[in-house]
Amino acid sequence: MKTPYLTIDLDKIEHNARVIVGLCHEHGIAVTGVTKVTCGHPEVASAMLCGGVTSITDSRLENIQRLKSAGINSPFILLRVPPLSAVDEVVALTDCSLNSELDVLEGLSAAATRSGKVHDVILMVDFGDLREGIWPDDVMMFVREAINLAGIRIKGIGTNLACFGGVVPSEDNMNQLVALAKAIEHRFGITLEWISGINSSGLELVSAGKMPQCINHARIGEAILLGRETIHRKPWPDTFQDAFILHAEILELKKKPSLPVGERSKDAFGLLTEFEDKGLILRALLNVGREDIDVDGITPLDSRISVLGGSSGYLVLDATAMEDNIAVGDELTFTLNYSALLAAMTSEYVSKYTLSDRVQ
Ligand SMILES: *Cc1c(COP(=O)(O)O)cnc(C)c1O
Repeated sequence: MKTPYLTIDLDKIEHNARVIVGLCHEHGIAVTGVTKVTCGHPEVASAMLCGGVTSITDSRLENIQRLKSAGINSPFILLRVPPLSAVDEVVALTDCSLNSELDVLEGLSAAATRSGKVHDVILMVDFGDLREGIWPDDVMMFVREAINLAGIRIKGIGTNLACFGGVVPSEDNMNQLVALAKAIEHRFGITLEWISGINSSGLELVSAGKMPQCINHARIGEAILLGRETIHRKPWPDTFQDAFILHAEILELKKKPSLPVGERSKDAFGLLTEFEDKGLILRALLNVGREDIDVDGITPLDSRISVLGGSSGYLVLDATAMEDNIAVGDELTFTLNYSALLAAMTSEYVSKYTLSDRVQ
C-alpha cells in the first residue's frame, strides 16, 4: 500500500456510536453525528448512522455536498454559522443550520422563500466559551426579530462549550440554557423542539445524571470517532480509541548522536528545541510530517518507540529499543488525537482506507 495512510475501522466507529447513542437515549437525548474532523467522510457518516445517530452535521458545505453526492441518506445540519454569501447553498444543501446573526437569518429567509422551502435554525447562545453565539442578554431581542422571518423555523436553541475558552459544561450553565428556552417558549408562544447543549464535553454530566432533563439534543464528534470525552480526554467506557490508525514508512534508520553537533540556531519552523543527551541512539525517519499530522498528537502503538519531532515532510523517532526488530521500508503505526486526525484527514498526501467486517 502507498504510504503514509490511515486505516479507518468502520465497525469500531459504529460500535462507539451505539454506546454514546445508547447512553444519550437513556436520558432522552437525540444524537447528531459530527463528521467535520473526517472532512465529511461518507463511510464514517454511514457507520455513525448505523450506530443510531439520527442526523449528520458538518461545519463545511463542501463536506455536506460530499456526503450527499455519495448517497448518504440523512437530515443534514450545518454546524458552523453560515456565511452571508452562501445562504442559497445552505438552504439547498441542508435542512437546518446553527445561527447567531440576524443579517444571516434574513438572508436565509430570503433564500428559503425563493426556493419555496422552510429552513430550520438552531439559535446558538454563548455561555462564556467565547466562540459563536448570541450573548444571553440579547437572546430575547434576537428571537423577537427572528420569529417574524418567512421561511425560517426556530427549531431550538443551543450552546457550544469547551471548544475555544475551554469552559466546562455544568449544571449551572446548562440550567441557564434551559431557563432561556423556557422564557422564549413562554414569551413567544412557540415550542422549541431541541435544546442542544451537549458535545463530547457534556457526556460526563449526562452519565452522572446531572444534565438538566430538558436538554434533549447532542452534537457528538470526538466521543464517537476517538472514544474520548473532552474535559479530561479520558477514554469513554466500552468504546474504542483506535478506530483510526496512521501508518508511515521508515525511510532512513541510522545510529546518530542524540544531541545536534555544532553551533545551533532555530529549526525550520523557527523553534529552538531542547534535546536530551542519551548518547548514540537509533533514529528512524518516517515519511509523514507537519503537513499531514500534529507531531505532538500521535502516539506510537509500540511503546518502545518515542517521537522526537518532525518537519514538514519527516517524522523523527527514537527507535533504539527496537534495534533488532526494524528495518528501512517497515511500516510503523500510531494512534491520533483530534488535532492529528484533523490534519491527517485533510492531507491529500495521506491515503485513507476503510476496514469493515460488515457486508456493505
Ligand atoms: C465540533 C463541534 C461539535 C462536536 O464536538 P466534539 O467535541 O467533537 O463532540 C459540536 N458542536 C459544534 C458547534 C461544533 O463546532
